[in-house]
Amino acid sequence: MIADGSGREPNAADVVVVGAGLAGLQCARLVAETGLEVVLLDRKEDVGERVHTTGIFVRKSLEDFPLPPSCLGPPVRRAVLYSPARRALSLSSRRDEFRVGRMAALYREWLDRCRESGVRFVSGARYRGCRRTGTGLVVEVERGGRSLSFETRLLVGADGANSQVARDLGLDSNTEWLVGLESVHRGVPLAEGPALHCFLDPGVAPGYLAWVVQDGEETHVGVGGTPDRFHPQTALAGFTASLDGRFALDEGRLVEQRGGRIPVNGVLRRIGTDVGLLVGDAAGAVSPLTAGGFDACLRLSRQAADVIVRRFETGDPAVLATYSGAKLRTRFWSRRWMRALLAGVRSRTAMELVCLALRCPPFRNLAWQVFFRRRSFPDVD
Ligand SMILES: Cc1cc2nc3c(=O)[nH]c(=O)nc-3n(C[C@H](O)[C@H](O)[C@H](O)COP(=O)(O)OP(=O)(O)OC[C@H]3O[C@@H](n4cnc5c(N)ncnc54)[C@H](O)[C@@H]3O)c2cc1C
Repeated sequence: MIADGSGREPNAADVVVVGAGLAGLQCARLVAETGLEVVLLDRKEDVGERVHTTGIFVRKSLEDFPLPPSCLGPPVRRAVLYSPARRALSLSSRRDEFRVGRMAALYREWLDRCRESGVRFVSGARYRGCRRTGTGLVVEVERGGRSLSFETRLLVGADGANSQVARDLGLDSNTEWLVGLESVHRGVPLAEGPALHCFLDPGVAPGYLAWVVQDGEETHVGVGGTPDRFHPQTALAGFTASLDGRFALDEGRLVEQRGGRIPVNGVLRRIGTDVGLLVGDAAGAVSPLTAGGFDACLRLSRQAADVIVRRFETGDPAVLATYSGAKLRTRFWSRRWMRALLAGVRSRTAMELVCLALRCPPFRNLAWQVFFRRRSFPDVD
């Protein structure tokens, strides 16, 4: 039993959220703020350990969500797109378009906000499975070699791209992936101001791109690609070597390596049942084109929290059936189409031609829109 001094039944909660990434933290807090009892579980001991993401937040998220400025790097207004021959197309905006999150600090800060809202957090707790009861579910967890169970009315799967909760609830699972790997450096001098540098080169990053993100404090050097056409460690080493002093990485120090799988199938259709629902990567809530997941995480988690609160207000489990990815999916078609197009360009010569086309209007305008338009994820109504 995990006693928390609150006087409540320790192993029962209205809602159990599995996974304290951005999606789980956002959903747990919003639900707890309405007075419902929420337990948040994560297999990690510390939510700030083993960060797997670059951390780029787009303007839309920065404007719409209260992200703590102390956990964000300096603003970035410029994106540079490179062809395989390293011809550069520079795009800039008059606004602050991106900020790189200091993710370990951000996760910890958001966990503090969860606790202040009444969320009970159980660290080092690995979700093992769940079974239905007459009134809801029993959630099975392993913690420190011991088995624990939590009774709940509702289970939220915020357990990432390879969600076990999705499988246990009989919901849809992700099927299409990119793999990303990056190194994080500190103390690298900025040559030309903060920028997001994207390298389109199927030889280095087949099906996606390689990147250098520099905000003046941190430099992230990474590669992403489709898993069957690509070995991430080899590609990252080759890409870093090919930068050939351009970013003065030698003058800084390597502090961390990050990586993981990114689902790019678009939001899954079936993401809710009468006893549970999925948020974040578990729901496939990632832009299939840019592979950015934060904006989607934040918006879908907010919608999930609204639906959960309505389910408890009305006492009607059927309310959860309104939580569906099908409608969102239809609004993803252009991004899925563009992603298929990008993945289909397999030769460096063909990509050079694509990049040549991007230099002339209206394609240049299209590239500008992809980077800077306030439309990373459909607004959820
Ligand atoms: C290399 C890389 C770079 C990326 N860069 C960006 C970017 O710059 N901008 C952007 O918008 N998106 C980016 N993404 C995507 C973005 O990181 C994800 O979409 C987002 O982090 C998903 O958040 P989440 O909360 O759904 O899942 P996660 O952050 O994966 O959180 C899942 C949590 O569940 C826990 N968990 C899993 N299984 C269990 C279990 N059985 N029991 C208990 N706990 C469990 C995990 O420990 C974890 O804390 C990137 C992804 C990768 C891999």
